[in-house]
Amino acid sequence: MSRLVMKFGGTSMADLERIRKSAAIVAAEAAAGRHVAVVVSAMAGQTNQLVTWTDLVGPAAAGVPASDDEYDVVVTAGEQITAGLMAMTLRNMGLNARSWLGWQLPVRTDDAHGKARIADIDGLALGQSMDSGVVAVIPGFQGVTEDDRVTALGRGGSDTSAVAVAAALGCPCDIYTDVDGVYTTDPRIEARARRLERVSYEEMLELASLGAKVLQTRSVELAMAYKVPVRVLSSFVDPETGRGVGGTVICEEDEILEKRIVSGVAMSRDEARVTLLGLPDRADVTATVFARLAEANINVDMIVQSETRSADLTNLVFTVGRRDARAAAELMEAIRSEISFEECRVDEDVAKVSVVGVGMRSHAGVAETMFRALADKGIKMLAISTSEIKISVLIDAAYTELAVRALHAAYGLAEPA
Ligand code: ADP
Ligand code: ASP
Ligand code: MG
Repeated sequence: MSRLVMKFGGTSMADLERIRKSAAIVAAEAAAGRHVAVVVSAMAGQTNQLVTWTDLVGPAAAGVPASDDEYDVVVTAGEQITAGLMAMTLRNMGLNARSWLGWQLPVRTDDAHGKARIADIDGLALGQSMDSGVVAVIPGFQGVTEDDRVTALGRGGSDTSAVAVAAALGCPCDIYTDVDGVYTTDPRIEARARRLERVSYEEMLELASLGAKVLQTRSVELAMAYKVPVRVLSSFVDPETGRGVGGTVICEEDEILEKRIVSGVAMSRDEARVTLLGLPDRADVTATVFARLAEANINVDMIVQSETRSADLTNLVFTVGRRDARAAAELMEAIRSEISFEECRVDEDVAKVSVVGVGMRSHAGVAETMFRALADKGIKMLAISTSEIKISVLIDAAYTELAVRALHAAYGLAEPA
């Protein structure tokens, strides 16, 4: 009989009633003969509460920006509670079920506390238990280092736990959430957004990393690397059919018949722009700026360098995640005597809007459509970056929703392809 991983997000685990409804979906799969591992998130809002508590007593409160391994112990606790509650609920429904905490499986990770990466999951004992008819319930988001310290996988990490468990078990992974699939853009921003029947791993990876939070980026990377078939669907069951509704399959590009140039629009507000004005126009100075940022573990996304009127000076603009903006500016001030610039500005009121589609590889004019649509709404582009299958622009954060809707319309995403 076949195995299946089913992951339930925070909304699907929000209270005891929702847990019961999610458990009923698990029971239906088990009744259909599947050997199921359930991966659960904490109750909606719970992880935020736990993070707030760590802020109040942890390093941030003491003004020390160091990572704290006890942070992981606290924030992963929400998943332990829901795992136990899910296992108990399944037992009350007459199923055989048990929980497997991160350290019990174990889910081995590196020691990057707060954003640990999974190195290995041994699926042998887990698979044997499932195959003997016991539903496995696994808290998402949790891992353990080589020396048995608890780790957290980074926000939204239960998706990654689920895909990693599916890879270890060699089976598909169904992600149950509060939307019935992956849409052409966030349906909370554009009501005319359309559910995609299928989306390629590559496009999903870009959409996730550019801000579509329906799947954590790392989960898509893992699914792509281990060829895990992933489906995103709603945990709100259709009362008439008793089945889950909708569904988007994440799969290989050649399994998709519907051909589109652009598949989706994503946005991220987690951006900040740092501008260095009046920098010496020399390659070694630019190299020093980015070397220092890399040493401080600050990821840079977009980069624009432009000449000034004076031939030997240049302006350098780059973007970083919002939480790194202060640190980046302080770093620039610290090396001011080394690189000598006139002024360093930080702007956190910016957002990144992106269009993604594998069809861009073979079609011209995609950028023109994007720039024209933004220009028609009077939205100024502060920086642009492209890859083979995406174009991103940095804009004033106030225009984020307007830009998403304008681009969604410009590429005709509301109409079926
Ligand atoms: P969960 O708690 O189940 O993990 P999340 O809140 O992390 O759920 O992710 C689901 C949310 O992702 C949706 O409610 C939706 O607002 C958002 N989202 C952003 N972009 C998209 C998209 N392209 N398609 C579907 N949902 C999206
Ligand atoms: N509960 C964790 C979070 O809110 C992990 C998850 O739900 O995916 O980030
Ligand atoms: Mg999520």
